[in-house]
Amino acid sequence: MIQVRNLNVDYFGNSALQQLDIDIPLGYSVGIIGPNGAGKSTFIKALLGVIPRRSGTILVNGTDISQVKKDIAYVPQKSDVDLTFPITVRDTVLTGTYPKLRLFRRPGKKEKEHVERCMEMVDIRDLAHKQISNLSGGQLQRVFIARALAQQASIFFLDEPFVGIDLVSERIIVDLLKKLRKEGKTILVVHHDLHEVEEYFDKTIILNKKLIAFGDVDTTFTSHNIQSAYGASLGNVQIKGLGGVQA
Ligand code: ADP
Ligand code: MG
Repeated sequence: MIQVRNLNVDYFGNSALQQLDIDIPLGYSVGIIGPNGAGKSTFIKALLGVIPRRSGTILVNGTDISQVKKDIAYVPQKSDVDLTFPITVRDTVLTGTYPKLRLFRRPGKKEKEHVERCMEMVDIRDLAHKQISNLSGGQLQRVFIARALAQQASIFFLDEPFVGIDLVSERIIVDLLKKLRKEGKTILVVHHDLHEVEEYFDKTIILNKKLIAFGDVDTTFTSHNIQSAYGASLGNVQIKGLGGVQA
C-alpha cells in the first residue's frame, strides 16, 4: 500500500495540495484526474520527493518512500523534459537501468540486452540511433516508457502519457500498461482527459487541490465527483460511462 498522510504542498506560499490522506493499494492501475492546475503533477512529484512537501509522510508498505525509489519508475510530463538534450533513443532507455546498478558500475551486457527487449516491447528498436529531439510525440512517449521498463520497477508513475501522441502509440502504451497491471505492478497515471477512464483504470483519484474522491472507478468516477472537481470549467460534455454532465 502507498500510504499518504497529511500531505500539504506549497509553491512560494501558495497552496497547491491541501491535506491529502489516501491509502492506495498496490497492484492496481489508478488514474489521477482533475482540471488543469489541480495539482496532479505536484501530487506525484511530492510523493517521489522531486519537490519538497510542507508536511506529510509517504510510506510504501510501511517504509518511507525515499528508501524505495529505485523500485518506482517515473515518466514525467513531456513539458518537464529537456528535449534538446543530445542523446539517442538507445542511450535514453539505457539510463533507466542506472538506479539499480551498484555503485560505480556501468551498464553491462545484461543491462544492454534488457534495453533491447524494452525497446522491442514498445516497438522503437528501429529508432535506436535517432536523437530524441527528432521524434514525434508518440515515439518520444514510447521511449520514456521503455526507459521506465528498463528500471525493472514494481511501481510506475506516469504523467499524462497520452497527451499529444498518435493512436498507434496510444494503443501500444495502453496494452503495455494492461500487461504490467496483470503482472501485479502498480500504475499511477495522471490523466487529464475524462474519456477512456473506465477502460484504462481500476481506480481513480479525483483531485482539485484537495482530494475530491478516491476509490473504484465505478463508484468514484461519477458525475457528482467530476462536477465537484471541474466545476464550471467543464461546460456541457458527454463522457462515456458518465452520462451527461450538466454544468
Ligand atoms: P496539474 O498537473 O494538475 O495541471 P500542477 O501540479 O502542475 O497541476 O500545478 C498545480 C498548481 O501549482 C498550479 O496552480 C501551478 O500553476 C502551480 N505550480 C506548479 N508548478 C509550479 C512551480 N514550479 N512554481 C510555482 N507554481 C507552480
Ligand atoms: Mg500536470
